[in-house]
Amino acid sequence: MKKSINRALNWLWEQHFPMLCLLCEQELASTSPDHLCQYCRLALPFNVGACSCCAIPLQPGADHTNEIRLCQKPPLLCGQCLTKPLADHAVVPLIHRGNAAHLMHRLKFNQGEPEGRALAHILLTHIRLKCPNRLPDLLVPVPMAYWPAVKRGFNQARLLADCLGRELDLPVAHTLLTRRLGPSQRSLSRAERRRMAPDNFRWRNETEQNALRGKHVAVVDDVMTTGATARQIIKLLRLHGAARVDVWCATRTPSLHQ
Ligand SMILES: [Zn+2]
Ligand SMILES: [Zn+2]
Repeated sequence: MKKSINRALNWLWEQHFPMLCLLCEQELASTSPDHLCQYCRLALPFNVGACSCCAIPLQPGADHTNEIRLCQKPPLLCGQCLTKPLADHAVVPLIHRGNAAHLMHRLKFNQGEPEGRALAHILLTHIRLKCPNRLPDLLVPVPMAYWPAVKRGFNQARLLADCLGRELDLPVAHTLLTRRLGPSQRSLSRAERRRMAPDNFRWRNETEQNALRGKHVAVVDDVMTTGATARQIIKLLRLHGAARVDVWCATRTPSLHQ
């Protein structure tokens, strides 16, 4: 009932205010859940041929492909994940550059909700393609420290997790973890990010913490750079009994060495 009312309201809205592509601003011919025209969508830098556990691109140049492809081969693994896998499975559809980085920048610094929904929709499409029968029991957005969250006014990881939770009908654990205030990650080098204090994240909600035992959890974030943040949270979740932890992230920086 609620969905059909929303659809009717959307239809009425579109009759008066046609939807424009978020990138080229051309009018969209039909309702597009990611707010992108077909040309801009196909020109996005998709993260193809990436490691299954940390999503680092493994095949040089593969990210220039202009189509979404499903890999039917055995899972690809990077050198680090062969011995120390980051997550049980990582879904990160875009390389963090060009228009993908542009959408992310507008989401983070201009409170771009349409850009957030666009990135969440692209992530959702890849989740449905790559793990249709392996959805988690719970989504955990990466928390922001208190003051940065107040300053920015919202948490982009939470926005992505909420969109995904609504579409996939999955619960989102907003109050499971809290983050200690540290230096802004953007001010840190890659080496410093990797050395980040291991107790940056703490439990906030004991009831939810106890309910983790045996559960399949997906950690949701906006950009993955070194994977240090995800590694800390995954370690905490596993310590408290999570049986399987995946990472869902919108974009991935292209190389550990950049
Ligand atoms: Zn466009
Ligand atoms: Zn890897």
